Amino acid sequence: MKTMTCNQLGGACDKEFHANTFEEMAEMSKKHGTEKFQIGDEQHLIAMNKMMELMKSPEAMTKWFENKKKEFNSLPED
Ligand SMILES: [Zn+2]
Repeated sequence: MKTMTCNQLGGACDKEFHANTFEEMAEMSKKHGTEKFQIGDEQHLIAMNKMMELMKSPEAMTKWFENKKKEFNSLPED
């Protein structure tokens, strides 16, 4: 298992996610972000808006995803 925080994944807090694959990690982060979004957490709203901006460019989004995946792969196993 590897650990990444909400902040590391483009979020807005120190919540840690534990997963074996980056895809799993991204899914957990997305779920957490959506939950925070639904309760109207301001910091997560800002973070999510930034991600939405990024998603307008598939190229930028792919690059972001690949960079994060690289970061994930370089992390030590828990
Ligand atoms: Zn968060």
